[in-house]
Amino acid sequence: MKKHSRRNFLKSSMVLGAGAIMPKGLTNMTKISTKSFSDHNRIIIVGAGLAGLACAYDLDQSGYNVLLLEARSRPGGRVRTYRDTFADGLYAEMGAEYVDSSDKYLRKYCEDFGLKVLPAKQYDGIYVRDQHISMKDLKSGKKNLPFNGIKGGKLFGQESAYIQDWIEKVRSLGPSSAEVQALDKMSVADVLRKGGAPQDIIDLYTYTNATESTTISSQMSALNMVLANSETSAFSENTEEGRILGGNDQVPKIFAKKLGEKIRYNRPIVKIEYNEDRVTIYFAENGKRRSMSGNNCVLALPVSILRSIKIDPPFSDSKMHCIRNQSYGHVMKVAMQYRRRFWDEPGSIGQRVFTDTPLRRVYHFSIDQPGPRGILLSFTSGSDAERLGRMNEQRRMKVAQETCAEIWNDAPQYWEGGVTKYWNKDPWLKASYSVAGVGQKDFREILAQPEGRFHFAGEHTSIYRASMNGAIESGIRAFKEIVKRI
Ligand SMILES: Cc1cc2nc3c(=O)[nH]c(=O)nc-3n(C[C@H](O)[C@H](O)[C@H](O)COP(=O)(O)OP(=O)(O)OC[C@H]3O[C@@H](n4cnc5c(N)ncnc54)[C@H](O)[C@@H]3O)c2cc1C
Repeated sequence: MKKHSRRNFLKSSMVLGAGAIMPKGLTNMTKISTKSFSDHNRIIIVGAGLAGLACAYDLDQSGYNVLLLEARSRPGGRVRTYRDTFADGLYAEMGAEYVDSSDKYLRKYCEDFGLKVLPAKQYDGIYVRDQHISMKDLKSGKKNLPFNGIKGGKLFGQESAYIQDWIEKVRSLGPSSAEVQALDKMSVADVLRKGGAPQDIIDLYTYTNATESTTISSQMSALNMVLANSETSAFSENTEEGRILGGNDQVPKIFAKKLGEKIRYNRPIVKIEYNEDRVTIYFAENGKRRSMSGNNCVLALPVSILRSIKIDPPFSDSKMHCIRNQSYGHVMKVAMQYRRRFWDEPGSIGQRVFTDTPLRRVYHFSIDQPGPRGILLSFTSGSDAERLGRMNEQRRMKVAQETCAEIWNDAPQYWEGGVTKYWNKDPWLKASYSVAGVGQKDFREILAQPEGRFHFAGEHTSIYRASMNGAIESGIRAFKEIVKRI
């Protein structure tokens, strides 16, 4: 069986099989032009996340005059490694974490920058409806999930039995057929219900798949779910993922170092103006409003922020519609420091546990860092992240502590402290990552489309949406568009 990953599932539904082509620039970067540096030929890039950084880096390496404006005082955006928060030099990923085996753009840069990607551990425990189940027992059929309508022997992909008619239609009519595409008007919950799925299957989907999308099944396009299931068997507990040894923030830091002063930090943009000849970007600098002009601009900031920026004149109606309405979910990471790695000791349910608790996915993060201390990380999303997000830090920690005590009885005696990051309250995101919402099948393509002197990058414009790989892919695509134009 093909191993299917979180990222593949999140991939944009419209372009199955299209597969992006590795740009020449990535493998064989040649200096295509040496230009004079003035605001006439300046390319302004907004956002120093992986999308903006990859684009700026490739343009800079090719001799273009680039300037990158970033609202924060650091590069990386949603790639955020906390380092000083923990004892013994431990670190934790509070944003993007896993690297899929198919993440070719990200992996190529890791290789170029001398960074190792180590395989991550797979789920070995399940804690749902107050029951502890080892993955071994589940896979062997010794134990079943306490949910009605499930198939034994597996955790993920339980929805597939209820959409078989649709999978048949995809095979016989093709994914682009009108009948299949019309699924975009329906939600995952609707289609599962129509297919005879009991409520338990819809509830389980919240934890198996909707968690990764950071939303709920009634807000997710059914098209994505059906296409993902017809391509392979959707999610699998055999997913192979990796993590960058030493922390993901090394990638944006290396890009940023190479760009040096071409990045201007603490410069949030507030307004965009343009005419046929030039673009003017207004931004805040030390409390004052400043402007900068150029002949091209790459907008690589999340649309959850772009929608609050004045654009004069507005972009096309379809682009503005997508900017205003692109769906996002809720997401939070909780890092918990323990004095001892009790999750590896006899009697433990495991070290990477799938749960239906407020913490959802809970796992040993510091696997490749020296003990005895260790960090358990929680990736939680949707309604649970939203609920925790409304609490103060102290209250969130109490929930985290109590939840871990339910999963591992030994946990309380080793607890030392923790920290959360709720991305929906981050001023430069106010969201999670883009989600294929109901009726949004064309959004990704429209958001990626250049308009006049503007190019658009960011995970929301990539077929590999919601990933570091997708952010880089989009930055390289914008770079190629500019090279073709100028
Ligand atoms: C909790 C969490 C877990 C994740 N897990 C994974 C994972 O396991 N694997 C994976 O591959 N991906 C994961 N992702 C997704 C991944 O982080 C993103 O897809 C990717 O990093 C997005 O990059 P980007 O450049 O498109 O956007 P961002 O990283 O958001 O960068 C945009 C930049 O624009 C800046 N900006 C915003 N407003 C302005 C303004 N007004 N002016 C100037 N600059 C501005 C921001 O500060 C930011 O630096 C996760 C994300 C989160 C939040």
